[in-house]
Amino acid sequence: MMFKREMVFSWLALLLIGALIVVGVPAIGQSSFLATATPPPSPTNNGGNAQWTIHSSTFESNFPKGFSFTLEATSSGGKIVSAAVLWRHSPVSSRTRRLATIDESGTKMTAVWEKTPGDAVPQWAGVEYWWLLEDESGNLYETPRQYAEYADNTRKWSRLESDDIIVFWQEGVPDEVGPLTIAAMEKQRAFYEQNWANPLGYKPRAIIYADFQTWAEWSPGRGTVGGGLVVVGQTSQSWGATAQVYDPFIQPVEEVANDTIPHEVAHLYQYANGGTSGLTWFIEGSATFFERNSGPRIERRVRRMAREGRLPTLQEQGPGGREAYDVGYMFWVWLTETYGADAHRRTWELVRSGRPQRAALEAIANKPFIEMETEFRTWLGAINPEVPTPLPTLPFFLPPTPTYEPTPRR
Ligand SMILES: [Zn+2]
Repeated sequence: MMFKREMVFSWLALLLIGALIVVGVPAIGQSSFLATATPPPSPTNNGGNAQWTIHSSTFESNFPKGFSFTLEATSSGGKIVSAAVLWRHSPVSSRTRRLATIDESGTKMTAVWEKTPGDAVPQWAGVEYWWLLEDESGNLYETPRQYAEYADNTRKWSRLESDDIIVFWQEGVPDEVGPLTIAAMEKQRAFYEQNWANPLGYKPRAIIYADFQTWAEWSPGRGTVGGGLVVVGQTSQSWGATAQVYDPFIQPVEEVANDTIPHEVAHLYQYANGGTSGLTWFIEGSATFFERNSGPRIERRVRRMAREGRLPTLQEQGPGGREAYDVGYMFWVWLTETYGADAHRRTWELVRSGRPQRAALEAIANKPFIEMETEFRTWLGAINPEVPTPLPTLPFFLPPTPTYEPTPRR
């Protein structure tokens, strides 16, 4: 499942962005995106009765088309008769496997991956890969894991890495976004640790695009939703990354670094702690809980709604659109102030063990959800604290300001 950030996008603005300037290759260090992950165990009886020697192993990014692998190896058991490369973009994503072509000498292997509309990843996704080989005597050998990145060498990008995150930003995005994101994620580290029982197990990536065309290129059609909407961001556990288009008229870099990226990384934690399906206000409120600076602004907005009797109910599906984010956020603030600073963590532990979201909340508060909601509304200062009867669900329309609507898809 993936999260998309959507907004109404002016096609006129797209035209004004103009042509891309293609610049040379930035210096990119060796990836260490698994620095915090546990290395996989070595296969038993690896290599069989033969001596195996790896002479060379390479990964080449051919972005935006795909990437390729080459391997030169020999076995004392004879020619290599079967070879496959396996890779994954994060330790929690599924593996992909490609059979390699082997040259006549039985020592040189090549495997190629080319994107298709249904199988594409953004530039700068991490690639963890290894080979499975078989020689003509039937000995099997698995090579050690190697790490690479799906580099975009057709444009100029910058890269900054810390213990918390790897940030990539395209030329055109203000350079402050790198250090600001590193600083924000470092300040937020203790808060993630306090609020999630299960760690990510990998270092998340943030990929920030300077324009819509570059974002849309890696997966043609991805940006198109219809009805005047385009997708300008996506967060996926299968890449272990969030990819976002930067728009200075919508969000300054301070907000991208302090609010958007910590929010999207929280979605990655949700994947690792029970999943992201279910109630929108529960999921988006929880992710918004990890934004660093937006809290006071949201609190003023929601308390005003409460004062004016406009607070939506959380019964049934609860609110959609912006209200799901704002009221959901305030719900988690209330829950942790009322039931302890670890209430978010304990709720998600129950969700991870299979408890439905509302039942998990009821277990934390030890009372029916409708009573919790009345207390929540009272705490917010609602003039009508009694929980109103939910209205039938109406299709909601996005206002012409940025919104962050999740569109679940798999
Ligand atoms: Zn979100």
